[in-house]
Amino acid sequence: MSSTLPNTPDYYAVIGHPIEHSKSPIIHAAFAKDTGQYLQYERILAPLDGFVHTVKTLQQQGYKGANVTVPFKFEAFQLAHHLTERAHDAGAVNTLIFSPEGIVGDNTDGAGLVRDIEQNLHIKISGKRVLLIGAGGAAEGVLHPILAQSPALLVITNRTLDKALSMVKKVEEQGDYRYVSVNAYAFEDLSGQQFDIVINATSTGLTDSTLPLPSTIFAPNALAYDMMYGRETPFMTFAYQHGAQVADGLGMLVEQAAEAFFVWRGIRPVTQVIMQQIRAG
Ligand code: NDP
Repeated sequence: MSSTLPNTPDYYAVIGHPIEHSKSPIIHAAFAKDTGQYLQYERILAPLDGFVHTVKTLQQQGYKGANVTVPFKFEAFQLAHHLTERAHDAGAVNTLIFSPEGIVGDNTDGAGLVRDIEQNLHIKISGKRVLLIGAGGAAEGVLHPILAQSPALLVITNRTLDKALSMVKKVEEQGDYRYVSVNAYAFEDLSGQQFDIVINATSTGLTDSTLPLPSTIFAPNALAYDMMYGRETPFMTFAYQHGAQVADGLGMLVEQAAEAFFVWRGIRPVTQVIMQQIRAG
């Protein structure tokens, strides 16, 4: 009788530059243990001009897939032979599947954010007034998944307004979300407006910069969500001061990893325990 247990693990990795800070190996090890999957997951530092070579080497070595983080999500999008719809919508790839038909590119960031807000924080996006701050890769990645939840209104604001305007234009051209009001505003035009969910998708948390938001931006019981995690950002401090419920991006990080794990292994891991462990340090 032949054994069904594999002799060797399946290999996965997260590729980035820098990469030593990444919590993905800890998260995926916990998922593997929880679900009884035999796999190994490691950090790989790719040279800034060596992403494609790194991916091809992993493929040749028999890896099953990889996550992709800063600054390679757009290169991964270009490299994939096939894109999932959500990767196509996002214009960026954070999950690679090495299949016999080639490299499949997926994007699990938006699903991770939506799951964290709806399942973990118990806040429905449907019917809410949502403000998305930022128009970089992270904002692009979550735009369609947020719209798919049918908010009443989505406003995008960004330091460089043109980028927010072009995100709105793309949504309008696609025509998939005609029932949602989607607009772009400059920071200075936000005064007098209030939102139920305010998502900071800028990198201001990394530099401790403040955002020029009006103090009246939060509706009663609003959620202020910062995609940054690991410390309190000026946006979080501002939100606490003005009465919002505050969440950081750790839940999104763990949930996007769970979604990638599900894509690779077909099993959805439990996320609460590892989230608590990381928070406890
Ligand atoms: P990008 O570099 O692609 O975009 C940066 C964004 O921040 C742009 O909109 C930029 O505006 C804005 N910005 C930067 N500095 C300032 C400033 N001083 N004032 C106002 N706006 C500013 O980064 P990403 O989109 O990839 O990442 C954004 C954040 O999201 C990071 O903190 C990252 O760690 C986090 N993230 C978290 C994830 C998670 O799982 N929790 C997943 C992905 C990202 P402009 O266009 O004008 O330059």
